[in-house]
Amino acid sequence: MAADSYDAIVVGGGHNGLVAAAYLAKTGAKTLVLEARGTTGGAATTEAPWPDAPEFRVTRLSYVMSLLPATIMNDLQLERHGYKIFPMGPYYQAFPEGGSLTLYEEDSQRAYDEIAKWSKRDADAYPKWNAWLGGLADVLGPLLLTVPPAIGSRKPADLAATLRLAWRHRGLDVRTIADVTRLMTMSIADLLDDWFESPQIKGALAVNGVIGTWAGPYEPGTAYVMAHHSIGDVGDGRLGSWGFPEGGMGAVADAIASSARANGVTIRTGAPVAKITLAPGSGRATGVVLANGEELRAKVVVTSLHPKTAFLDHVGRENLPADFAADIEHWKTRSGVVKINLALAELPDFTANPGTNLQEHHTGSVEMAPSMEYIERAFIDAREGRPALRPFSDGVIPTAFDRTLSPEGTHIMSLFTQWVPSEWAAEPHQDELEKYADRVIDTYNEVAPNFKGAILHRDVVGPYEMEQDYGLIGGNIFHGELSLEQLFHMRPAPGFADYRTPVPGLYNASSATHAGGGVCGIPGMQAAKAAIADRRKSARARRR
Ligand SMILES: Cc1cc2nc3c(=O)[nH]c(=O)nc-3n(C[C@H](O)[C@H](O)[C@H](O)COP(=O)(O)OP(=O)(O)OC[C@H]3O[C@@H](n4cnc5c(N)ncnc54)[C@H](O)[C@@H]3O)c2cc1C
Repeated sequence: MAADSYDAIVVGGGHNGLVAAAYLAKTGAKTLVLEARGTTGGAATTEAPWPDAPEFRVTRLSYVMSLLPATIMNDLQLERHGYKIFPMGPYYQAFPEGGSLTLYEEDSQRAYDEIAKWSKRDADAYPKWNAWLGGLADVLGPLLLTVPPAIGSRKPADLAATLRLAWRHRGLDVRTIADVTRLMTMSIADLLDDWFESPQIKGALAVNGVIGTWAGPYEPGTAYVMAHHSIGDVGDGRLGSWGFPEGGMGAVADAIASSARANGVTIRTGAPVAKITLAPGSGRATGVVLANGEELRAKVVVTSLHPKTAFLDHVGRENLPADFAADIEHWKTRSGVVKINLALAELPDFTANPGTNLQEHHTGSVEMAPSMEYIERAFIDAREGRPALRPFSDGVIPTAFDRTLSPEGTHIMSLFTQWVPSEWAAEPHQDELEKYADRVIDTYNEVAPNFKGAILHRDVVGPYEMEQDYGLIGGNIFHGELSLEQLFHMRPAPGFADYRTPVPGLYNASSATHAGGGVCGIPGMQAAKAAIADRRKSARARRR
């Protein structure tokens, strides 16, 4: 029997795969998405992890939105398909030694007063820091939507692209270039030491530099990670703002899936791909083979999987240029992240800000990262091969706004924590993960003594489960570390950062390409645009 045939097959139904499919289908392409799991969304997923309490739903992995550009929201009409965001409240840290810090981004006077409790000098510096970051975001923000050129290539088209990029930045002065250089090369700790003096403020601002990163705040390059997490907005035009999607992160993927279907995309779940097929001779991608042996053909294949799976398993080293295969083999993909999801009978009652009634400090990030040294210690533990004794945690309580996730009066709390040893991606370590989660909960209990008693259910997801169940190899949350050597024209390999691959007809929409990771959809959009442009070009060539 002849294999089913499509204009485009997208491997992986995470949010990027769905974005790619929607853009392809908008041009009239008959498009199929193949997703291994029983549901779409990938790391953007809302699940009910407790079979005896299905009324509680959690954003099991990713938990807040910021990076999805307005272009994609508008092109795919995501609001019409159910995309709705509640902007997050302030940053909040209650300190084990007493007191708290609430950073109000909206209200400069309140932010000043809060910071001045710890350091007047830092309170004066804070608006200048925000303005400095804003200036850098003006430079770096547009780069997120830029297709990286193949720097060093002598092909006329590549040279032209490199020159265009340089020309676009001709207005930058010496000082701005120096600031960008600092941001790209410094550790977040050294950068913050240049600006601030109090451990409390430095702890607060260091968190974004280490989210999802296999590096403590003293490692070079972490300043950029902070910028990556600080230059988006949730559509409200507020730099670095984050928000909770109604229905959890799975609802974002659902909105994209709904838009894709409205454009004619077919989505198959429970359909793991085992191989990408190539034409003998030309090596062009011709389709895929599913794990059950079913063969499907397509003129264009887009993969949104981790590059090690996509290229080393699905295409095969023997079908790739040796340099490219080596680059993918050397791709760094560690995180040491553990996600802890909790169902709570009541809100945390902080000694520093008492009350279980919903208050402003429950509505943003509810952190356990009291200083840079605290964060660094957690990393050193993991790098030395032990789970952190006192992990740091980026906590949020989405039910402060979103009442669709848990019954009235109860809450969901999501704790994004680091670190366990990166090698834990190879083994479940379930007992040790439970003990690690106990310690995270203890640290919150020290500052909110009702916390432990309020926990109704808990769900602990470590690197092994992230790799096995979600395809996040090495447990890295971004399909690959955001380290300097894996950014922009190097993401995921030099010469192939334009969402194309060494295999003609195969495109890359993974978070391991430029602007990924995060739930930003940019890799999906760019891969689709590259495929569409190439098809138009070859159609024009055929007509000539
Ligand atoms: C714990 C955690 C917290 C995070 N927090 C945030 C956050 O708060 N905000 C944010 O913006 N980002 C966050 N991220 C990062 C973000 O979630 C990811 O970068 C993004 O979701 C990746 O999307 P993707 O579509 O590129 O890949 P994925 O979501 O990984 O999608 C790939 C899909 O391919 C499927 N697949 C795998 N193998 C096969 C196969 N053989 N055949 C078919 N399908 C297959 C997978 O099941 C998956 O659905 C977090 C990630 C994690 C893990």
